[in-house]
Amino acid sequence: MPPRSVCGKPVDSKILLHACCAPCSSAIVEWLMQRDIQPTIYYFNPNIWPREEYEIRKQESKRHAESLGLQWIDGDYDHQQWLQGVCGLEQEPERGRRCEQCFRLRLMAAAKTASERSFSCFATTLASSRWKNLEQVNRAGLAAQEAFPGVTFWAQNWRKGGLQERRNELLRQYQFYNQQYCGCEFSARSAQALTKPLLREQMREAKRQHAMLLPQWSRQIVDKLHAQINATYHPSPITHHPSPILAYWPLPDEVDIRPLFDCLVAEGATILLPRVTGAATMELRRYTSPADLREGTFHIMEPTGELFTAYDQIAVALVPGVAFDAAGHRLGRGRGYYDRFLALHPHIRKIGVCFPFQRVATVPAEAHDVTMDVVVS
Ligand code: SF4
Repeated sequence: MPPRSVCGKPVDSKILLHACCAPCSSAIVEWLMQRDIQPTIYYFNPNIWPREEYEIRKQESKRHAESLGLQWIDGDYDHQQWLQGVCGLEQEPERGRRCEQCFRLRLMAAAKTASERSFSCFATTLASSRWKNLEQVNRAGLAAQEAFPGVTFWAQNWRKGGLQERRNELLRQYQFYNQQYCGCEFSARSAQALTKPLLREQMREAKRQHAMLLPQWSRQIVDKLHAQINATYHPSPITHHPSPILAYWPLPDEVDIRPLFDCLVAEGATILLPRVTGAATMELRRYTSPADLREGTFHIMEPTGELFTAYDQIAVALVPGVAFDAAGHRLGRGRGYYDRFLALHPHIRKIGVCFPFQRVATVPAEAHDVTMDVVVS
């Protein structure tokens, strides 16, 4: 393909476009395609921490590329190697020397990939953000170009020509995940951004720290839960209202509510447990005994008993969570099964269950997240 010129810059009709994220890529990709330039998206961002945040941003980039029929290349994710690459620069402010080194690491990989895949030109979406230093990005790109003869870095200023405004429009149109910090742990901490992935990471760490105390806390929480369930039936005792109770079979890091089961069954209640049936749905089955459980999706023990569909009879749901706040907002594991199910059955009294340290000031909530009626910890 002969080199062509766009805005005075020589480019092929095909280029390798290093993408930092879907929102920053969207307007640039549109601009290129309107000029008959076919970008192949190269997603290489080992700077992003934690891994969960990385996966979310990666999937958004892939979704964007696939919606346009573009080729999308998955770069490696080795955050430890990236940390070694910026070693000694951890305390640098954003737009400082750590960021320039970060750009160099990513654009060197982009130039290498361009060279290996016979692209004569590569560009990056890094320069699109006004929070990034354009000179740093361009220096990094030109250094990568030097290292791979035959590959040209296209140092375009993507902030001009209305692309910033178009980026914001496309962000809304695609409903992209909108990240709250640049990417690495240093930027996350300085931004004090409390995203869902960050909060999950904090809670994982807190559980590791409190591991010895979890069984003791579970026993105390079970007693409180029993009282809460009975309060649902007040003033009649639960034995007069043997409504099914949606419970959960705990994972090792969740509040162990199993001692409650025998107690509730003896009081006449029916225990239901969820079973994942597809990418987005769960069904409920009667719990009979531990022997009738099978390991299901996500390594959760699931019931094999009778299918239960009389949802309007369910009075209470015991809902595990990663974190809860005072307003009853719940942070789950990110799969949305409980939110989807409980949204369909708003009459069910929702009791969030967690360890004390899982109660936080604020859970980042979205419109589709179901709120708990009460949280017991
Ligand atoms: S703040 Fe952003 S650009 Fe700077 S080092 Fe961290 S991830 Fe890289």
